[in-house]
Amino acid sequence: VTGARAREQVRVTGVVQGVGFRPFVHRTATALGLSGFVLNDRHGVLAEVEGDARAVDEFARRLVEDAPPRAVVGEVRRRPTAPTGERGFRILASLPAGGDAPRTPVPPDTALCADCRRELFDPADRRYRHPFITCTACGPRFTIVERLPYDRPHTTMASFELCPACRREYDDPADRRYHAQPLCCPACGPRLSLRRSDGSGVDADDDASLRAAVADLWAGRIVAVKGLGGHHLAVRADDPAAVERLRARKRRGDKPFAVMVRDLDVAHRLAHLDDPEVEALDSPAAPIVLVRRRGAPRPGVVVAEQVAPASPLLGLLLPYTGLHHLLLADGPPALVMTSGNLAGEPIVHDDRDACDRLLGDLGDTLLTHDRPIRVPCDDSVVRVVDGAVVPLRRSRGYAPLPVRLPVPVPPTLAVGGDLKAACCLATGRDAWMSQHLGDLQGPAALDALERTVATMSSFHHIDPRRTVADRHPRYLGARWAHRRDPATVAVQHHRAHIASLLAEHGVGPAVAVCGVAFDGTGFGDDGTVWGGEVFAGTVGALRRVGHLAPHRLPGGDAAVRHPARVAVSLLLDAGLALTDDLAPVAALGDDLAVVVRQLEAHSHCVPSSSMGRLFDAVASLTGLRHEVTFEAQAAVDLEAAAASWDGPTPRYRFEVDDTLVASPHDLLREIVTDLRRGVAVAAVAAGFHRAVADLVAVWADRVGLEVVGLSGGVFQNAVLTSAAVRCLRRAGHRVLTHRVVPPNDGGLALGQVLLGALGSPSSAR
Ligand SMILES: [Zn+2]
Ligand SMILES: [Zn+2]
Repeated sequence: VTGARAREQVRVTGVVQGVGFRPFVHRTATALGLSGFVLNDRHGVLAEVEGDARAVDEFARRLVEDAPPRAVVGEVRRRPTAPTGERGFRILASLPAGGDAPRTPVPPDTALCADCRRELFDPADRRYRHPFITCTACGPRFTIVERLPYDRPHTTMASFELCPACRREYDDPADRRYHAQPLCCPACGPRLSLRRSDGSGVDADDDASLRAAVADLWAGRIVAVKGLGGHHLAVRADDPAAVERLRARKRRGDKPFAVMVRDLDVAHRLAHLDDPEVEALDSPAAPIVLVRRRGAPRPGVVVAEQVAPASPLLGLLLPYTGLHHLLLADGPPALVMTSGNLAGEPIVHDDRDACDRLLGDLGDTLLTHDRPIRVPCDDSVVRVVDGAVVPLRRSRGYAPLPVRLPVPVPPTLAVGGDLKAACCLATGRDAWMSQHLGDLQGPAALDALERTVATMSSFHHIDPRRTVADRHPRYLGARWAHRRDPATVAVQHHRAHIASLLAEHGVGPAVAVCGVAFDGTGFGDDGTVWGGEVFAGTVGALRRVGHLAPHRLPGGDAAVRHPARVAVSLLLDAGLALTDDLAPVAALGDDLAVVVRQLEAHSHCVPSSSMGRLFDAVASLTGLRHEVTFEAQAAVDLEAAAASWDGPTPRYRFEVDDTLVASPHDLLREIVTDLRRGVAVAAVAAGFHRAVADLVAVWADRVGLEVVGLSGGVFQNAVLTSAAVRCLRRAGHRVLTHRVVPPNDGGLALGQVLLGALGSPSSAR
């Protein structure tokens, strides 16, 4: 049965370049007996198909339903044209960018696929042990793109000319490497080289370089490894002295290192993993997944205590390039893999920088190659909460996937916060969050911000007409924004957190919400430090309707580093005597007198409604931690204690007054009483978490709106988030939590974009 002959132009938008979409279109059209062509252009993919009218319909249906796994199909628009009698189906060269704004997203980098992994370890395959093996389903994308549209001449692979065998694969529609832009092989691809700090090394020889790197890793040396979006510093995870040396060289304090493990079997030996965690580890984004460490690892694999000192969580990731797979197959089964940089500085991605900065001062050996990294991009970090992946750092594997905004915005740049910085460019209903930029202290970080904004502007052809930044007068990113654009719109930190959550859930200004923002520090409308806030209203008009009763941070930043100081401040406010049996009192020792004097004289005492600091105070009160060397360290300990408790949970309560101000004083007195009675620290920690979850529910109840959003860094806490969501759902609320951008300051810029468009947030008190 044949229908009428038809020809249609079919345009597909979304993430459709660099994901094997044109080969897929070719296969689909050929299978349906259609003729025509397909090409990439600045809007996405354009095809024309001609043949049986019903086959054309079927073609349009399959484009959506059978799209390649890494594609994100936006719109499919069809326009009938006159049949030309064309024969055969062809893939045509990309149309150049230019003219009006292109909207084609660059795809993220993707972990090595199962097919390529099989070939990598198959001695009969011509890419056996080829570190740069890749196909249309996997490999580098974002980090090699020079400009759009995404095509080999526009990537850092442009200088590697395809050999005849690779060229055949590239041109063969039946091959799974058909038009795979980073395609290469041992004959035509990049080459590994190795440098040692003593001047020895290997030049342009994959096998010899790998053998030397593997030997150095086994010997406990620190090896800088050039990866997709930058350099890692790698060291065997079971060698305490080697890990300690890396920690000292990076000046990293106690902050846990991530560990790359050979395979899931090794991961299971080191940590308790549930199915969603396994899925996250093994996903194409291959992020670092924070998982619960086993008390006693199973035999066969050891991770030295120095990798994550006293931490109940371990950040694990699987190898995601051919090079990583080879290193872990031949080398130690578990490697510390940390960004190649000093603590807080941007990741090193430039080859000259790598030689200067990574060899000697930080690393003993540099394993490098001759494919440049165009866009630096750190590993992403996620955590699974109640079975769902929550991003804690959204970078490699996710950036630069766009986020669909609930309302259109003019071309906007939002610079985010100073810590865990990420910026955002947006226009219309599309927003592109940048990769993770680190902390903005230091000139190198501001340069990275500047370069990222330039790269993103050119990728997405956005010339921002509006700039949005945090209201904090001392944020370096905000100052940078004001220098660039004196008309920069300043928005309040915690409203931006709530707005980022609403943005990722597509909640626009038609819906009034109750938003709870808990974090460590943010600049409030009244110039004090906020961080335990509840808002009500629509996204552009979020009124602060309640908050945690302000406490004082004696010594300002010193109080952030010393939770014992905050604990003492709160104990005094709660009317408790500072007796020696109280852990923070004992911990402060001689400093106690200084802190008390500061509090009595109200000098250097910053008022704050920060929930993060209250978590710190309770961690100190329970004797878990009195001093921190990285953000949220005390809160992580308190959460771990709470998670370990399975007995009856004590009931503590915040007092909430008519103006929705919540005082923790009763709660602190009860906790002190319980600790003196010998109630287990884990039970107290669990009781405190439950009290905070109850507080969220009480606030939501008083505000009386159906939709409740939870944002801010404190909601990285799985015990708290899970308890709060449970309480709220039981009370009939629809609860929003983060799935796309981090609840911490890494998601801030997305909210800033929305607030920049939807009104003057500082006037909406
Ligand atoms: Zn592959
Ligand atoms: Zn080749």
